[in-house]
Amino acid sequence: MVALERQVAGGWLVIDEQRDWRRLAACKGPYSELFFPPVATERKEDKHAREADAKAICAECVVVNDCLDHAISVEESHGIWGGMNELERRMYVAKQAVMIR
Ligand code: SF4
Repeated sequence: MVALERQVAGGWLVIDEQRDWRRLAACKGPYSELFFPPVATERKEDKHAREADAKAICAECVVVNDCLDHAISVEESHGIWGGMNELERRMYVAKQAVMIR
């Protein structure tokens, strides 16, 4: 089994590469910039176009559920994860909370 270690605040995080869903992510490589906003400001229509392109990749991704679960569990506040942007994830979590009641 291959294990990676990554330094994080407070120590080292051991990653089981064989089980890490990230290794199957469809967004690895040249398209990764689609998933996060640029450092400079972004026009609304450019954001919509960029996010639509990213979501199209997510729609074909075999780890979309793992990715969304991760983003929700760590409260990711930026970017496209699991086929949703930050606002869509917040709405999804709120809807799930209502359904649980
Ligand atoms: S669901 Fe989207 S953001 Fe998540 S790993 Fe797959 S392609 Fe990347």
